[in-house]
Amino acid sequence: MSTPPNKNKKEKVGERPEPGRLDAALRPRRWKEYVGQEQVKKALSVLIEAAQKRKEPVEHLLLYGPAGLGKTTLAHLVAKEMNAQIKVTSGPVIERVGDLAALLTNLSEGDILFIDEAHRINKLAEEMLYSAMESGALDIIIGKGPSARTIQLDLPSFTLIAATTRISLLSSPLRSRFSGGVFRLEFYDESDIRNIVERSSNILGILTEKDAVREIALRSRRTPRIANQLLKRCRDVADVVGSKEITRAIAMEALELLDIDEKGLNGEDRRLLKSLIIKHRGGPVGLNTLAASISEDVGTIEEVYEPYLIRLGFIERTPKGRVATIHAFKHLGIDVSNDKQSRFF
Ligand code: ADP
Repeated sequence: MSTPPNKNKKEKVGERPEPGRLDAALRPRRWKEYVGQEQVKKALSVLIEAAQKRKEPVEHLLLYGPAGLGKTTLAHLVAKEMNAQIKVTSGPVIERVGDLAALLTNLSEGDILFIDEAHRINKLAEEMLYSAMESGALDIIIGKGPSARTIQLDLPSFTLIAATTRISLLSSPLRSRFSGGVFRLEFYDESDIRNIVERSSNILGILTEKDAVREIALRSRRTPRIANQLLKRCRDVADVVGSKEITRAIAMEALELLDIDEKGLNGEDRRLLKSLIIKHRGGPVGLNTLAASISEDVGTIEEVYEPYLIRLGFIERTPKGRVATIHAFKHLGIDVSNDKQSRFF
């Protein structure tokens, strides 16, 4: 059975979005299209309604969680709901204090400033942000040495929405200034991901068998961005074989080409787990040592691989280091007893 094209939606199977605009087309534009994350949505809708009643901007918000879970999308939805203009930037772009000053002084009353990767803002700029967030003023130092003086510029009322994949890298003074709240986005339920894949199939203009939707959802790491990427690769295979529908067989072919197993792990995840289990005998091993043994960056391990492996219960963080659990051994088909591990060397 296939997912029927949704008659209520503008997008119909067969009408495909322009190439190059696919990702923008898949981004939810209305609250009701934003699947899952019910707790966060509920809390945000109260904040928004209260702010609307008071005719004030929403207070500053911090969204955190692994990449691809919908932080940027939420920021746009808050802006839409508040009828506010959103200006988008990201931490690495704010290299100097002047970059931030320029951004802040160009805001209009009620604007939303969205800063992605907030953990990468320059430290001096971050300090400037404190007073901008707290008192709506910007302290600017003019001149150098003994003749330097500080002037204070009043800013229009605005909302800062910051997003980060690594909340531990944000300083506590910055964290404490998100007066509207700090919201953690969770990995999605499998049924939510299935809904997202079905919605995206409609938008991409392709039929997708229910079983294919299931297989994609299973391998999506419970992450909407990955689910959409997998769906697009399945659509490629369907187009190549000239099928108007992503059948289960087509989905399986595409997923095998991508080397993604039934838990959503790719070759890199498995390499990390194997290193932990085989080279380090299951751990505990320090993060730096683990990173060095697979020639990977510590930040990438913490940000990209680990959250989902921890979510699956394959890795545990202990005070002595990372440890592989019995589930990881089982998944890789490695016997837990040490003597049997030797066959993998
Ligand atoms: P993040 O900012 O957390 O990295 P994004 O907001 O950019 O994630 O989301 C990545 C993509 O995943 C979006 O473009 C959208 O297509 C899809 N997406 C994210 N969250 C949802 C959701 N709750 N419902 C439907 N699609 C979603």
